Amino acid sequence: MTTSSTETATKGPIIGVLALQGAYDAHAKTIAALGATPRLVRLPTELKGLDGLIMPGGESTTMLKFLEQRGFFDLLKDFVHKVPTFGTCAGVILLAKDVTNPAQKSLGALDVTVERNAYGRQIDSAILHAESKLPGGPLEMVFIRAPRITRTGAPVEVLASRDENPVLVREGHLLAATFHPELSHDSRVHQLFLNMVRDHKENPA
Ligand code: GLN
Repeated sequence: MTTSSTETATKGPIIGVLALQGAYDAHAKTIAALGATPRLVRLPTELKGLDGLIMPGGESTTMLKFLEQRGFFDLLKDFVHKVPTFGTCAGVILLAKDVTNPAQKSLGALDVTVERNAYGRQIDSAILHAESKLPGGPLEMVFIRAPRITRTGAPVEVLASRDENPVLVREGHLLAATFHPELSHDSRVHQLFLNMVRDHKENPA
């Protein structure tokens, strides 16, 4: 097998981590530990050449402001409709088709409705352990002022739930967690995303 000079400089798939604001650093560390090459993305031109993208938690309203100021929004919208993307928390809010509490502009890629800051003050941040469809036993889920997925469209597969509401979902090349898997030692959710990236590379839709 031949590799080009750019390929030999990187390890595994190249995964962008949107780094406009919020919890991007822990994502970069987790995927590096799993053998991928993280690239912090702060400019629209930095989306080029990525095999996948992680949109981290933080404050979705602030991220939207940055995206619009930098003329980034439309390019990112096009990107997430085609290339494997994993949104966590605020990242899910950005990926969703519909946002409530209050309504907010979004990239409209993931067929879900998301209610922002949906858990009451007492339980808005919590660490829970629950079964999921991932093998290997209960998953640790760190929720921080989490949104709630209140509707999933037909193509959306629910991989884990909190009470009756989905907290980890997949739709084709998109993965979304309303919790923060990058803050756990358990890297199964990131590994799932890297598997999706590999499958997409081998078999682009
Ligand atoms: N509450 C935030 C928002 O509405 C999301 C919180 C998070 O990403 N941890 O954007």
